[in-house]
Amino acid sequence: RAKHEGRGGIRLFTSAMDQQLRDRRALEHDLRLAVERGELYLEYQPQQHRDGTLVAYEALVRWRHPVRGVIPPGEFIPIAEQSGTIAQIDDWVLMEACREAASWDRPLRIAVNVSAAQFRRENLDGEVRRALRESGLAATRLELEITEGVLIEDMSRAKRTMASLKALGILIALDDFGTGYSSLSYLEAFPLDRIKVDRSFVAALGQSERSLAIVRAVIGLAHGLGVPVLAEGIETEAQMSLLVEEGCDEMQGYLLGRPQRLESSDRNRNIPIRAVS
Ligand code: C2E
Ligand code: MG
Ligand code: MG
Ligand code: MG
Repeated sequence: RAKHEGRGGIRLFTSAMDQQLRDRRALEHDLRLAVERGELYLEYQPQQHRDGTLVAYEALVRWRHPVRGVIPPGEFIPIAEQSGTIAQIDDWVLMEACREAASWDRPLRIAVNVSAAQFRRENLDGEVRRALRESGLAATRLELEITEGVLIEDMSRAKRTMASLKALGILIALDDFGTGYSSLSYLEAFPLDRIKVDRSFVAALGQSERSLAIVRAVIGLAHGLGVPVLAEGIETEAQMSLLVEEGCDEMQGYLLGRPQRLESSDRNRNIPIRAVS
């Protein structure tokens, strides 16, 4: 009996896996066409200085799937990375974000996430130069967000890539700081323009003394190196005031603004500021 159930169990399990695999193949296939079909779009989340001034927007990609609806990047970026579609998506995001920012009536920064695959590409600096030229955006307004993973993979190569990007005059931020290896050696080795404290630490602020200690240490370390700190994922006034108190330089999170579409009809209007405090 047990044997019988076991087999049935295996059969069920297998067909569930088949289904998953089929779903994934279908998504991979659809993703390949998504850029051409204009199914990708960007939302922009505000970043503000501790004094309440709007200083930047981070571009966050979304995929409006014709059948499944809007799919978040956490679901399709990994698939794109594994199936080789990522380069096309990355190029589109970079170009679109630069164009959008170039249309604003104020010289705010635009932050663009860079996947590990994109950072490893030989011609990343060429792509960035092209996006800047075609959009007319000043290099100093573009910030690329990289994660710790891309730095440790191949440090000497990462150094070369970083140097070629810095030579263009753009900014580099270290995203999700604290969730990866958080090695102090690359803080020393890489010319970072900003460190973004991961939202997991921010979420725990005010509830755990330990997360406050970590945030305080990261801010102290970064400031010691002359690097400004941005905290992401701020949802409450309590988190906000703790971070201001600790000397955090810039803020981002639902409290200040959710990721939002900036319709082309808005482009000629003033960009809304919602100053907190
Ligand atoms: P990330 O770069 O760390 O982006 C921040 C994520 O946190 C975004 O999720 C944002 O919507 C969310 N978030 C912002 N404020 C809050 C808050 O107060 N509370 C909470 N709970 N969440 C908040 P999203 O848009 O789903 O993006 C997830 C990740 O996907 C990003 O993490 C980034 O690593 C990646 N990603 C997004 N857009 C792109 C892209 O264009 N290219 C690449 N390569 N990766 C992207
Ligand atoms: Mg980011
Ligand atoms: Mg982040
Ligand atoms: Mg994050």
